[in-house]
Amino acid sequence: MAKRHTFIVEHLDPELEEWQALEYKCIHRECEASGANFILSGVAKASHVQKQLGLSSTVVQQKGIEDLYSTPEARQRVCLLDPKGERDINPEDGDLFDVFLFGGILGDEPPRDRTGELRNKGFAGRRLGPEQMTTDTAARVTRIVVQEKKRLDEIDFVDRPDIELPGTANGDGPGHPNESVNMPFKYVKGANGKPVMPEGMVKLLVEDMDKGIEDLL
Ligand code: SAH
Repeated sequence: MAKRHTFIVEHLDPELEEWQALEYKCIHRECEASGANFILSGVAKASHVQKQLGLSSTVVQQKGIEDLYSTPEARQRVCLLDPKGERDINPEDGDLFDVFLFGGILGDEPPRDRTGELRNKGFAGRRLGPEQMTTDTAARVTRIVVQEKKRLDEIDFVDRPDIELPGTANGDGPGHPNESVNMPFKYVKGANGKPVMPEGMVKLLVEDMDKGIEDLL
């Protein structure tokens, strides 16, 4: 019987962007489906965000990770997924740790190492390889390694893909028949050969594209 792990995203941004809402809902869905717990911690307006995400109060917590795991003993069971981790994660880490912790941060290019806000707090650090991933991808890869017991080099990735943007959703406005946007992150390759992304993310990219264009017009 595989151990029940807990995945925690510490929300580190002041607001909750639409991007992050899609990412968090995606992580929640995939954790639920794989028998893992999910907690979104450090959320200032927890009750508001809970409603916005349609998640329960056990999932969306105002308390930050340092309050949830306040003793050195408790923190030893927590693994921080850290782009500057001392070594890459491997399947055995699934037995070493009960909790896998991620920074709820919008990826930026180049990274500003905001994950550093969670470093040196008594959590062991593990890296997911050198390239930056989105939070949902980091959680997905971690789960594949610690639950499916696959090594990082056995996982198929898509690196910095160009995402094809379909025509505008409602048909009016400037279509993007062959527009694409480059995402400077590493993604898990799906069965269809495309990068696995949260539901609704491509639609959001199209809307952002339209907004971008409208701002320019
Ligand atoms: N650019 C941000 C990282 C955003 S990614 C920064 O400045 O830190 C959001 C989270 O995903 C990170 O906090 C980390 O927990 C995880 N993550 C992303 N890429 C990773 C990698 N290559 N190794 C380990 N964790 C990673």
